[in-house]
Amino acid sequence: MKNLEKTATLSCSTGLPTVEYSSLSSEEQEKILHLQQAILESVALGVDHMEIINQVCRLEEQLLPNSVGSVMLMDEAYEFLNVYAAPSIPPEGVAQLNGLRPGPGGGSCGNVIYRQEPQFVSNTFADLRWQDLRHLAYNFNLCSCWSVPIYSSEQKIKGTFALSSFEHRSPSPFHQKLLEIGSSIIGIVLDRNKSLESLRLFQKVFEGSEEGIMVTDPNKVILLVNPAFSKMVGYTSEELLGETPKKLSSGHHDRSFYAAMWDSINTFGHWHGEIWNRRKNGEIFPEWLAISTVNDLSGKTTHYIGIFSDISERKNAEEQIRYLSSHDALTGLPNRMLFKDRLENAIAFAARSHHKVAVLNLDLDQFKMLNDSLGHTAGDELLRCVTSQLKVCVRDTDTLCRPGGDEFFIALANMPDTDSISTMVDKILEHIAKPFVLEGRHLSLSCSIGIAVYPDDGGNFETLMKRADKAMYQAKDAGRNTYRYFTEQLNSDSFEYMRITHELREAVKCKQFTLHYQPQIDLATGNVQGVEALVRWNHPLEGLIPPGRFISIAEQNGLIVEIGEWVLNEACRQAVAWQMAGLPPIVIAVNMSAVQFKRGNVENLVRSALDNSGLDPQYLEIELTESILLHDMDYMLSLLKDLKDTGLKLAIDDFGTGYSSLAYLKKFKIDRLKIDQSFVGDIAIDPNDAAIVRAIVQMAHTLNLRVIAEGVENQEMLEYLSSCQCDEVQGYHFARPMPPEAFAAFMADKT
Ligand code: C2E
Ligand code: CA
Ligand code: CA
Repeated sequence: MKNLEKTATLSCSTGLPTVEYSSLSSEEQEKILHLQQAILESVALGVDHMEIINQVCRLEEQLLPNSVGSVMLMDEAYEFLNVYAAPSIPPEGVAQLNGLRPGPGGGSCGNVIYRQEPQFVSNTFADLRWQDLRHLAYNFNLCSCWSVPIYSSEQKIKGTFALSSFEHRSPSPFHQKLLEIGSSIIGIVLDRNKSLESLRLFQKVFEGSEEGIMVTDPNKVILLVNPAFSKMVGYTSEELLGETPKKLSSGHHDRSFYAAMWDSINTFGHWHGEIWNRRKNGEIFPEWLAISTVNDLSGKTTHYIGIFSDISERKNAEEQIRYLSSHDALTGLPNRMLFKDRLENAIAFAARSHHKVAVLNLDLDQFKMLNDSLGHTAGDELLRCVTSQLKVCVRDTDTLCRPGGDEFFIALANMPDTDSISTMVDKILEHIAKPFVLEGRHLSLSCSIGIAVYPDDGGNFETLMKRADKAMYQAKDAGRNTYRYFTEQLNSDSFEYMRITHELREAVKCKQFTLHYQPQIDLATGNVQGVEALVRWNHPLEGLIPPGRFISIAEQNGLIVEIGEWVLNEACRQAVAWQMAGLPPIVIAVNMSAVQFKRGNVENLVRSALDNSGLDPQYLEIELTESILLHDMDYMLSLLKDLKDTGLKLAIDDFGTGYSSLAYLKKFKIDRLKIDQSFVGDIAIDPNDAAIVRAIVQMAHTLNLRVIAEGVENQEMLEYLSSCQCDEVQGYHFARPMPPEAFAAFMADKT
């Protein structure tokens, strides 16, 4: 993924109106990434420029079956187009194309030069633009031809890149993107065709690469390996030279795996995928491997190049996180996150089939009392018994979840009507009421169930969950051991929402906000490393209101943009004021909401806050949540890159609660991860959370990210975190968020 930044700039240099990356399906995005990566590898490895251009043509032909790619360049006098590369067009075709004069009837490529813009001809047999070349279209059965300009570094069109098809067709956005990328890479490769430069580049990449690189001759005899490769497999380069890669074989893959791999290499010149190899010490480990062939001008293979990255740590941790973070350790049931996923699927399905989905919030009655009197071990056992009882009642298509404590969520998918829901719920109440035998004692339980129904009570996860929860409390109020459906009058949110919105507008106008500051401590040195700015609403009647009560409303009504602007400016101003007062400079972390990224002009906001305050950007950190990285990736990549270019730092807040994709983080140049409090809070009692925290730290470190744990409330948590090699901590154990004067005193005390 390292190459992404490069590719982003590549595709900007075409001068074409670029196709929005996000308008492509994820499968198409993936294909394009692979294409770019394959080509960039060749560029980095100093593969001959002609070979790279042929490679572009062949890779694109693969992505658009039934087509041929071609590159034509204008001659010195800028009069005629000649074929420069067309690996799949037979020589007689090339001969007929050469010397093409640009003009209104000069085919797609001739028209690109003539009109100085891309040409998409979907029927070459009829289109006027092909009138001078009609014989070619018939002779070679070229039914359609899309052609785009190739620009020089001076933005002059020096040629064309075309995909011609043996069928009539018009390009989709994906195809346009393919052409765009192809032409931009070819333009760059042509510009950089200075063999010396690429040789130097090759050496630098080879020696310095973090990835292992191996070069073999056509018989797969190893000619070269770089230091990273030796380190990865434990053999010195002397031990490997003259051997074949078989020396590393793990026995993990069968013959057909290698046969398919070589088949792909020989046919397409390229293969990549996961492969297991064996180190010198016998250990088997997974690698990500990309193999490409290097051919000479006649097309004969002269070398194979393999690029390896060791993914064992990443893979272990990733799998561990995925399982742990989606299941409850005690009962093995899906947790809230996985439940959300399943419920959303059930909703999508029900929407198509016009069925209902019931969301049940089930809470055991008097469980706390039982738990306290029987002890926790028996309490756990009881929860497992309840789980098996519930499993009997639900169907395979339903989802059972234990989010924690004595609470269960159930999604009943595909229900025809409310009656059938009630029947299921009756069955559940009945099964829970069956007496259990636990440690020789007969016990009986009951539960209260709240029900919200899609689509009647809401269309999404959050609404349905909130309403099922309210209904559950109604069931409890109704004397327990019963169920209640959600009813509209329970929803008192809206009035409260309007009241707060109204008052917040006033608050923004009259600047009724203030910031409190909470220190962040470096675990290794015990020093205060940074400070997080946390907003409070200084309400004229109610006093200080915590952000939990107004931020989400401010996000819904958009006022967060103005509040956030004030927060950022104030935090920067305060940071400078402390520095002027002689406190040691530390990083100030400011929270930024996804809504600000969507609606506000974040880059300008940040620049002006830095300018107004005079704060050195290295002392500013923006905390953002993972969710924003998932929207409009291209846009966020460039926005966050611009932000990083100002010199500030980026942290991901509440890590672990969302998508938790480390691959994204690497791409987005994040500096720090903040492990969410909900994991930290339970590390001492929940082995599940403890394991997640350890895995997150390990994995973050393999990606060179620092990790901070928030919500550290006692010595026990601190000790566990330090045993995990967590870098920094924040929490009540050290200090609560406090007003600026108190923070200054705290710092003075520390130093
Ligand atoms: P957050 O960013 O996760 O901030 C950490 C919250 O945890 C703070 O709550 C902090 O007071 C609290 N906390 C710190 N140490 C401990 C501890 O040891 N135990 C426990 N139980 N809690 C601890 P606070 O100040 O109420 O902020 C709540 C949330 O409001 C923040 O969560 C953040 O999401 C949001 N927020 C606060 N200020 C801003 C802001 O300026 N802009 C935006 N967009 N959101 C903000
Ligand atoms: Ca935060
Ligand atoms: Ca947080």
